[in-house]
Amino acid sequence: MAQVAVEKKQMRTPIESGCPDGVQYMHPLMIKNFGNWKYHDRPRPGVLHHVAYSGDEIWTVRVGTQRQLGPYEINLLCDIVDKYGEGHVRFTIRSNLEVMVSKWEKVGPLIQAFNDAGYPVGGTGNSVTMISHTQGWLHCDIPGTDASGVVKSLMDELYGEFIKEEMPNRVHITTSCCQINCGGQGDIAINVQHTKPPKINHDLVANVCERPSVVARCPVAAIRPAIVNGKPSLEVDEKKCICCGACYPPCPPMQINDPEHSKLAIWVGGKNSNARSKPMFQKLVAAGLPNNPPRWPEVATVVKKILYTYKKDARDWERVGDWVERIGWPRFFELTGLPFTKFHIDNWRGARNSLNASAHIRF
Ligand code: SF4
Ligand code: SF4
Repeated sequence: MAQVAVEKKQMRTPIESGCPDGVQYMHPLMIKNFGNWKYHDRPRPGVLHHVAYSGDEIWTVRVGTQRQLGPYEINLLCDIVDKYGEGHVRFTIRSNLEVMVSKWEKVGPLIQAFNDAGYPVGGTGNSVTMISHTQGWLHCDIPGTDASGVVKSLMDELYGEFIKEEMPNRVHITTSCCQINCGGQGDIAINVQHTKPPKINHDLVANVCERPSVVARCPVAAIRPAIVNGKPSLEVDEKKCICCGACYPPCPPMQINDPEHSKLAIWVGGKNSNARSKPMFQKLVAAGLPNNPPRWPEVATVVKKILYTYKKDARDWERVGDWVERIGWPRFFELTGLPFTKFHIDNWRGARNSLNASAHIRF
């Protein structure tokens, strides 16, 4: 039955975009036992062990990477997989590498080879797994910071929590290099925060931008068409503007990135829904942190303060958001020592009280 399901999946019609069908790259034991797993456990941090009804067993070693990999790193990692693994590898959505082997005896040498090459093994269970981040400079035209850089410098500091499973529950940290698009939603999220309205280069607007599209983009109707120096351009009602940055992608002359005014903000308590609970939306806890490459020390200090307060104070199995819900936000600010400022008050009129964002049945 399971074999039939896999064969059907392999016949998926090719599409011109998106990633290829992953089934063709799976370890043969995973194809053979597709949908027929009896149980799984974790013999040590960074290693998953799955046992099938057929009696087959498979071990998966999870490795942290720097995400943006060049040919040197890819060749190095693939050589290790070929020599110590069984030639099958996949990436998780958090840019961890997973290598599958069919024998427990292969796990130790594989981990040793990754560690010797400088790659940590971990990110499973109650660890701080790899920080997920948005595409950034490599693929996108609107980043206000280097999301990969923030991740690399933070994971260098949180390395010890990646290779152990000593948090109250799993911790997902995310980063986002703009405020509006593929932005982070996590237990702790580091997101760009623009703090001033866009500055318009009027000479370029007429050549580059479709003015109606830009006007339509603004969520608070702050943009109007205007004639400036005899040329068609735009103007922004700065009292209305919420500095979201939505006008910059369709119209780059609406420059909003700025080394001084583009900051980083930290949000806490987001998580996806699951079979038992609704999603939780993260809330702003620190605003206006300097966007300070190459190591972002101010951001690292705040993230570590939140993380280690959570580690010390939360009960077993509480996610960061559950912990804050239990102790209350005033106590969160007391315990972490973060200042509560006017920037934490959500006074935007467009905010909705309850977003219908889960599939749970309501009556
Ligand atoms: S978060 Fe924004 S800037 Fe970063 S990759 Fe996504 S869309 Fe681009
Ligand atoms: S930054 Fe956002 S709110 Fe301000 S003008 Fe542009 S789209 Fe409108």
